[in-house]
Amino acid sequence: MDKIYLDNAATTPLAEEVIDAMVNVMKVNYGNPSSTHSLGQEAKILIENVRREVADYLHVSPSEIIFTSCGTESNNMIIKSCINHLGVERIITSPMEHKCVAETVLDMKKRKGIEVVYLRPDHKGDFNINELEELLKASEKKTLVSLIHANNEIGNLLDIKKVAKICKENGALFHSDTVQSMAHMELDFSEIPLDFASCSAHKFHGPKGSGFAFVRKSSGLKGIITGGPQERALRAGTENVCGIVGLGKALELSLKNMTEYATHIKAIKNYTVERLSAEIEGVKFNGRSAEDDKSLYTVLSVLLPFKDPMIGLKLDMKGIAISQGSACSSGASKPSMVMMMILDEEEMQDSTPLRVSFSHLTTREEIDSLVTALKEIAASFKIENTNVSHR
Ligand code: PLP
Repeated sequence: MDKIYLDNAATTPLAEEVIDAMVNVMKVNYGNPSSTHSLGQEAKILIENVRREVADYLHVSPSEIIFTSCGTESNNMIIKSCINHLGVERIITSPMEHKCVAETVLDMKKRKGIEVVYLRPDHKGDFNINELEELLKASEKKTLVSLIHANNEIGNLLDIKKVAKICKENGALFHSDTVQSMAHMELDFSEIPLDFASCSAHKFHGPKGSGFAFVRKSSGLKGIITGGPQERALRAGTENVCGIVGLGKALELSLKNMTEYATHIKAIKNYTVERLSAEIEGVKFNGRSAEDDKSLYTVLSVLLPFKDPMIGLKLDMKGIAISQGSACSSGASKPSMVMMMILDEEEMQDSTPLRVSFSHLTTREEIDSLVTALKEIAASFKIENTNVSHR
């Protein structure tokens, strides 16, 4: 049975062209980019070409792109270095962040005594930006604001341009976890005055273990790994040449096909909303995820009108790979923080969140199979309920 893959926010399958480019580097360009001989320098050129490509995409300087092993490392580096090297004493963040930001912030609170302030989302998952402004004006403490761009569970998009401007006007640093939005949207950091952002190649058909941090030149950020002077001394360690080339190829494909992919995925997402609304009575969509302009088009967060903690397993047995929330928390028995923030008590008790996440490879037939599978599961609950009421 062919698997139906609807978990593209967790990771995406590698593009063939990415595999070919990486295999070629593994076979041919095995030199260490720090070596001065030609094999080393050839590898170095490959890295610098990708750095330029990324910088062009974001409208920044190549020296502001630091290759890392993943989104988690990029976010760790940025947050920890803000505290260790830039004198940050307070972080304003939210309960909607990915674990790699949330846990890093908590760690800094515990170990460094940093003050942490959380912006509360409303039931749609939106923040009151005025509250952020008031918080920034109310304290003299050097502050880092860390807010996710496209939420990985519900897809809500933050107006990062607006937030970046407010932070700049109030002397705060601004980091946005852009792991889900990078390579899926146009991002022009010459227009968005944020200080730091992060990227992970496996979210757009690139390899796992390859990402980068955007670090604004003027910020003065330093690395957290000590060692050699690689990546302008911000990230010591021999570079993952084939991973970086894979990231570059995946980005190239994403940018070349962005309009086509986005059009296809948006149509698939709308089709999913229509089919689920028509076939599953009482279904809802979480946050802004069913709103075209307010959410990332690759993510749809569904609230099923029955409680089934085994839904992921049941769908897997029907050949459908899908997550309830983020991959990092999907194995946990506790509901995710994001869901706890936006759902009311009754919804938490009686319903089941499901994250459908798409790629350009997703087809309408796959969505039809998902709807059929969910209808079967929903019907089994109706039968159970009928049996209970007849007993
Ligand atoms: N930030 C967000 C929003 C994510 O969705 C993820 C991955 O799920 C990460 C960070 C972590 O990225 P990585 O898997 O590259 O460590």
